[in-house]
Amino acid sequence: MYLKKFDLSGRVAVVTGGGRGIGHACTHALAEAGATVVIADVDHEVAAAGQAALGEAGYEATTVTMDVTDPGQVTSAANDLVSQFGHIDILVNNAGIARSGTGAEDVSDEHWRNVIDVNLNGVFWCSRAFGGHMVQRGQGAIVNIGSMSGYIVNRPQEQSYYNASKAAVHHLTRSLAAEWAEHSVRVNAVAPTYIDTPLLKTLENGEVLKRDWLRDTPMRRLGQPEEIASVVLFLASDAASLMTGSIVLADGGFTCW
Ligand code: NDP
Repeated sequence: MYLKKFDLSGRVAVVTGGGRGIGHACTHALAEAGATVVIADVDHEVAAAGQAALGEAGYEATTVTMDVTDPGQVTSAANDLVSQFGHIDILVNNAGIARSGTGAEDVSDEHWRNVIDVNLNGVFWCSRAFGGHMVQRGQGAIVNIGSMSGYIVNRPQEQSYYNASKAAVHHLTRSLAAEWAEHSVRVNAVAPTYIDTPLLKTLENGEVLKRDWLRDTPMRRLGQPEEIASVVLFLASDAASLMTGSIVLADGGFTCW
């Protein structure tokens, strides 16, 4: 009775930034639960690499090249995928960038706009386009990848733009959840701690930063992408049927201190 609630057979799931990192783990988890998976990534080669890796694990996926910051591209991708599959049941808004390490006084206009554009505007454009179809159909589940940075201010690296973008994603999650509950569209978010992905490797001084992060983490380790994907799978499935507007922390205890 309970395990069946995780069964996603017959459902179509779109994962933005699904070619690598946390997004890739999400495509794997959703495919393993039986969903038809669409990898939506800005870079076709990254999407294709994700598709190939899923193939090696025994799962098929469709790819679509889509920049989440371009509302026109997002809307036409949503319409095309609905025409192709008939419906979209699950959207994972995962695409995101960090560009950490710049103090607020030195942040350029371009830097601020870029992070807000991908992390916040992108979540809204995708939710509007794919969620719009779900609202019309009267069912669906959206899972946003927020961050513990929406709750705390990270240290020692400065990243006001990132923290603000993720706090906004959390409140957007609650706002859409409240608006779309009557249409049976659930909207939740996962707020991860530091996860061992290519995004972390883009940070200067990564290894030095890691020492501080582990000191501040009760579990004394980074998370793995699969540990976020399993929370996403739960929230996307009927096992979370009473949950909407929730921001689920998966942070190794980081926010306890
Ligand atoms: P990665 O950089 O490993 O993967 C991000 C993916 O998003 C890439 O495939 C990237 O494509 C894609 N992407 C970037 N910009 C766009 C865009 N404009 N349109 C479509 N796709 C895009 O990051 P993570 O897996 O680490 O992060 C995934 C999410 O998790 C992000 O929202 C991040 O903020 C969040 N998160 C990550 C944490 C971490 O410690 N890693 C902690 C907390 C939250 P491409 O490679 O082509 O640029």
